[in-house]
Amino acid sequence: MKIGFIGLGNMGGPMAANLARAGHDVTGFDLTAPMPEGVTATGSAAAAAGGAEVVITMLPNGDILRAVATEVIPAMAPGAVLCDCSTVDVDSARAVAQQAEAAGLGALDAPVSGGVGGAAAGTLTFMVGGSDSAFAKVAPLFDIMGQKAVHCGAPGAGQAAKICNNMILGVTMIATCEAFALADKLGLDRQRMFDVVSTSSGYSWSMNAYCPAPGVGPQSPADNGYKPGFAAELMLKDLRLSQMAAEAADADTPMGARAAELYAQFVEAEDGLGRDFSAMLPRFAARGRG
Ligand code: NAD
Repeated sequence: MKIGFIGLGNMGGPMAANLARAGHDVTGFDLTAPMPEGVTATGSAAAAAGGAEVVITMLPNGDILRAVATEVIPAMAPGAVLCDCSTVDVDSARAVAQQAEAAGLGALDAPVSGGVGGAAAGTLTFMVGGSDSAFAKVAPLFDIMGQKAVHCGAPGAGQAAKICNNMILGVTMIATCEAFALADKLGLDRQRMFDVVSTSSGYSWSMNAYCPAPGVGPQSPADNGYKPGFAAELMLKDLRLSQMAAEAADADTPMGARAAELYAQFVEAEDGLGRDFSAMLPRFAARGRG
């Protein structure tokens, strides 16, 4: 398949490389990032998109996505699909889909989970919004870049699934970290705490798969000095997107709102920037109630 790939950073670079390695004809464009192996460089986003059957974008935010979409949509071949894999606000995802469909193109919002490791290994999970026909066309590419693609519904449904998932993740990570900090102060050994909670009703992905306590549970960023992994500032981005969506939809999300506040404080006023989002544990452990 002829594929245009725009945004070749930490995630997009390895995703594009995997498509090229699988034998697809990939042309790429990025403002700064180097071209991954096997990807043909072009001088603009429109040039990367021209003649492609599928155009994939992997960009920092919704404003940049809207600007890039406005540039590439007129350059795209009739019937081609614009597939955005960035994490952006639901409104931008819907607006870009509408713009693409009005121009006779297919459109998908297909944000991912799995991080840089999953992008390199081709084991991402895609959460996808858009038409059945657009999903069917891009599904073979999701199979190369990932291990699972869930068609969640109409345009915007992929972004909705992503921010709801990450709102749960932010909240459960905070709950897990504050519980470990309380256990410390009660004299409860962290390994015993893990042994109980990971097999009791307090279990979660944050505890069982990504335990924030060093030396406890499976290998996680806690065992590597809290080097990300999933950086606290990326969690903050996703929590803010979930709060924007909750405001727009009049949804009451008090735990999500508090998680966004705590990650904002951690990243912007404390030492959370550049640390894994599970570094909330040393943060809580070093504090009292005051
Ligand atoms: P990144 O900053 O490494 O990559 C973004 C790339 O977009 C950069 O190389 C930048 O030069 C390029 N870019 C910006 N404006 C552009 C333009 N107008 N035209 C062409 N290229 C442009 O970010 P990333 O970590 O690769 O993340 C990309 C997206 O994936 C984000 O929306 C992020 O929230 C999401 N995401 C990231 C992770 C992760 O672990 N890094 C996990 C899941 C989802």
